[in-house]
Amino acid sequence: MYTIHVLKIFSKLLDSNDRAVNDIRPIVDDVNALEAKLSKLTKSEFPKQTATLQAQVQDGTKSLDDVLPTAFALVRAAAQQAIKQRPFDVQLIGGVVLHQGKIAEMRTGEGKTLVATLPTYLNALGGKGVHVVTVNDYLARRDGEWMGQIYHYLGLSIGVINHEKSYLFDPAGTNPGILEEDIEHPEEFGTGRFLKEVTRKEAYAADITYGTNNEFGFDYLRDNMVLDLAQKVQRGHHYAIVDEVDSILIDEARTPLIISAPGQEPTDKYYQFSKVVDLLESKDFQIDEKLKTANLTESGIGHVEKILGIDNLYEKDFKTLHHIEEALKAKTLFKKDVDYVVRDNEVIIVDEFTGRLMPGRRYSEGLHQAIEAKEGVTIQQESQTMATISFQNYFRMYEKLAGMTGTASTEAEEFHKIYSLEVVLVPTNQPMIRMDQADLVYKSLAGKFEAIARDIAAAHKKGQPVLVGTTSIEKNEYLGGILKKHGVPHEILNAKNNEKEAHIIARAGAVGAVTVATNLAGRGVDIKLGPGAKDLGGLYVLGSERHEARRIDNQLRGRSGLQGDPGATRFYLSLEDDIMRLFGGDAVSRVMSTFKLPEDVPIESGLVSKAIESAQTRVEGHNFDIRKQLVEYDDVMNKQRQIIYGRRDKILADVQTDPEALKKNILSKIKDEVASFVGIQTSEHGEVNFEEVLSEVQTIVPFDEKSQKNLLEQIKAAGSPEKITELLSS
Ligand code: ADP
Ligand code: MG
Repeated sequence: MYTIHVLKIFSKLLDSNDRAVNDIRPIVDDVNALEAKLSKLTKSEFPKQTATLQAQVQDGTKSLDDVLPTAFALVRAAAQQAIKQRPFDVQLIGGVVLHQGKIAEMRTGEGKTLVATLPTYLNALGGKGVHVVTVNDYLARRDGEWMGQIYHYLGLSIGVINHEKSYLFDPAGTNPGILEEDIEHPEEFGTGRFLKEVTRKEAYAADITYGTNNEFGFDYLRDNMVLDLAQKVQRGHHYAIVDEVDSILIDEARTPLIISAPGQEPTDKYYQFSKVVDLLESKDFQIDEKLKTANLTESGIGHVEKILGIDNLYEKDFKTLHHIEEALKAKTLFKKDVDYVVRDNEVIIVDEFTGRLMPGRRYSEGLHQAIEAKEGVTIQQESQTMATISFQNYFRMYEKLAGMTGTASTEAEEFHKIYSLEVVLVPTNQPMIRMDQADLVYKSLAGKFEAIARDIAAAHKKGQPVLVGTTSIEKNEYLGGILKKHGVPHEILNAKNNEKEAHIIARAGAVGAVTVATNLAGRGVDIKLGPGAKDLGGLYVLGSERHEARRIDNQLRGRSGLQGDPGATRFYLSLEDDIMRLFGGDAVSRVMSTFKLPEDVPIESGLVSKAIESAQTRVEGHNFDIRKQLVEYDDVMNKQRQIIYGRRDKILADVQTDPEALKKNILSKIKDEVASFVGIQTSEHGEVNFEEVLSEVQTIVPFDEKSQKNLLEQIKAAGSPEKITELLSS
């Protein structure tokens, strides 16, 4: 019953996907019909064609959908002439999916970089700017420069924003850049020569701007901190295509962007609060372990007030109350060597899923400082948040959003619920012939890694290139050590420097290459098979353990078997793997006791595979919940952000266009404020308490003693509430 039900849902999904793809095919036919004519255009004719389309779109005589076939056919012809690549039909399908504001799931190696040029060009015709989002600065430069040749050929301008620098595509190649002799495929790696440094504003003013999610998001926040509208660099959020969309909108979306300034608060108080909490008794507070909250009771508040010598903690010193409760949390809910460790005079958080240390990460709202006080280590100052936004809300600002990746389907629900993005599976250009082999499960970690090393050594002896994926840097280096013992030469790769990373991963397909990489290293750079590697079976991808998310495992497998190449994959697991230990549940111990397993003999157990699959699904769900909470929280802030940023912009605009009106506006606000507090200080019989009015004024604008006296005289002389208001507002 169950299986039938699942199959039904699955086939329904396929049906709707087939329909989505089939609906696009006639559009592809239209593009193909234009090819013969447009491919004959000469170089100088492309910008003219672009100008015609721009005019039609901008004056509204034609919609983007009307001009789509012509625009796509122009891009195809320009790509063919400028970089000698003619987008395949399936790439046109992907391009239409992106134009429709959806996610195109296209396998690694299908050429998504090129696919993006089609809808990017089309949507840039309106002149409002298109953002293409990459996972790192290097890829923003590479793709801006590489695809820049096509856009430039068509007559559009291209900007690139990086962490510290911004560029425009410069056909003259005036930048010294890297020497082309130094790199194997300059056309794909980008030499930097064709990027001219410009201001950020100029890079955003280009028709198309490439950059990372972080830079786009931070520029948005900084734009809302400027004191003059002319300092803003972005010009709205029209259309964005997010490359490696799962990495950016799912993985990176776990932490919001924050611009912060070092706090001014003294740190001694945390030690003091920690001591106060030590003096409390059990009736003074309530703890909820599930919600991780700690609150003072009535009696606790009284107790704290007595210790600190404060009289109404609730009303007068809410901040202190907050810190006391954080100190209480630190003492009762956070355990050393479970939630955090103390190392080198620092409190380091332990990741609750993986048990990995997370140096540099800090609890917020003063909790980290409270724990530091509890442990008696140096307290690091709490930083003050100046501006913050979640990626979810940043990307939801775009009028139209689209994304592409090899692995989106497992997260289809989240894309739909959070971003209203639908996932469309685009067929591959060539049939896939890669062999995904069954998992091998070992009893112990040691046994597993020995087996992995033997497997790698055997493939290496044949000359077949091997890519090994590990889930952490630590495992990555551990495996490196074992390979050394086995005498297998190899490259170690983890996400430290994405430029070097790109070159190492690009060579991973050479005969005899063995590359040990963390799962995400080198995303976006494809692995080309070296001469002869095809005959040896193509790239052999070996997973040394399961990741928390199935998607990341699929990414790894997807490195092999590109564009119809041969290839193979296999995952090695052990019952001692983190994911098994933490989430495997009973299945693991049952397998342990049922089979008397020797260390070096693998088992094939449906039970284990099922347990892993369900563990992964559970962790995925759990992580989705965390992100959902983050968005819900940020949604509240988002409303405030929109209102405040809107008002801010209005004021900044008024400063330029209508300073008189602005002044009037501010004065009338002041008058309202004054009228309100004068009103409060006026009795039913119309008698004004002059002294209280003065002290209200003092809280807004402090006067010295002499001026105070003076002002009091004037207030008294004014007499009536109306006259006093008049006097004080001027
Ligand atoms: P993806 O991002 O989908 O993994 P890439 O954009 O990195 O793939 O492209 C993979 C490789 O395929 C690149 O070397 C690129 O030059 C090549 N490629 C893409 N499209 C075409 C095409 N239409 N014709 C020839 N080569 C192509
Ligand atoms: Mg890519």
